[in-house]
Amino acid sequence: MKIDFANLTKAYLEHKDAIDIAMSDVVSSSRFIMGKEVQDLEMQLQQYTGAKHAITCASGTDALILAMMALDIKPGDEIITSPFTFIASAETIAFLGAVPVFVDIDESTYNIDVNRIEEKITEKTKAIMPISLYGQVADMDAVNALAKKYDLAVIEDGAQSFGATYKGKQSCNLSTIGCTSFFPAKPLGCFGDGGAVFTNDEALSDKIKSIRVHGQTERYIHKYIGIGGRLDTLQAAILIEKLKYYDNDVARRQKVAKKYNEHLINHTTIPFVEEYNTSVWAQYSIRIKDRNGVQLKLKEKGIPTAVHYPKPLHLQECFEYLEYKQGDFPVSENVSNEIMSLPMNPYLSDQEIQYITKELKELL
Ligand SMILES: *Cc1c(COP(=O)(O)O)cnc(C)c1O
Repeated sequence: MKIDFANLTKAYLEHKDAIDIAMSDVVSSSRFIMGKEVQDLEMQLQQYTGAKHAITCASGTDALILAMMALDIKPGDEIITSPFTFIASAETIAFLGAVPVFVDIDESTYNIDVNRIEEKITEKTKAIMPISLYGQVADMDAVNALAKKYDLAVIEDGAQSFGATYKGKQSCNLSTIGCTSFFPAKPLGCFGDGGAVFTNDEALSDKIKSIRVHGQTERYIHKYIGIGGRLDTLQAAILIEKLKYYDNDVARRQKVAKKYNEHLINHTTIPFVEEYNTSVWAQYSIRIKDRNGVQLKLKEKGIPTAVHYPKPLHLQECFEYLEYKQGDFPVSENVSNEIMSLPMNPYLSDQEIQYITKELKELL
């Protein structure tokens, strides 16, 4: 048997006709930049999340940059985040000259340990950036309470969690600003790069919209330093189609995760989801002691696996100047050594899940 990790081909083929029509409509209209699909998608994203404003953009990375630029994050400002994430979370902070201040993760959810945030807050702290890792939101009530106490902004890096819920509320609409990504392999992916920023604050929304187009407020009139960060009309048209059945995709991912859990519960550390959360299962990640060996043997059996993420950010060469060292964030370091993601997509059959888990259990 040969298993597909994210099965993006099937994601297209299942809805080929509708997606093809949507794409060809854009191409024949030649409204490639800011065509009406972009606005339509933004309205639908607002409806989906309940956020007053959804601003699409060129990637999840740009979403984070737009959020921080709109909040006026300046060189030397500190932003508290976790070192166990994709590089973009902390990289965008550093890109703006601000300082990522890391806080270790919770051992069970792999999200920021909210009990360790307060001790890192200083005069220079401007924001907290919790990451909703693997499709599950961090404890936002706790984060928001701290933000309120110290007058900080909260930016949710929801790149992996669009569609997830926290206490019945939608990810990306839980704080000052929410950011997501439509990178193809994310739960809601387009056919290239894409992202969105969410807020309930009209002034922030206006500023983000302006910064997205070189800081302009009207044509060739530039109020802010900005970026060229728009979402392509083509990607918007694709996302409008995919959003129609996204809830069904999420339900199928949840079913796959449940099946994995049933097979693996007595054999390894299965993912933990808080009872007040629903996950969109961007990844299904388990803990494996001899990870390299297991990955190699599974590969021989046609089962692809991945590691999200093998090296925590405080130990990355690009952040050497922050002067963190091995041992600073032991939970992140341990988890980085053991974490392994199994194939996850809405199309995995019971038979495939049976095969994957049977081969895996033989190696444990
Ligand atoms: C994917 C991802 C990003 C960046 O999104 P892109 O669309 O690839 O730029 C940021 N943060 C996290 C946690 C991600 O997983």
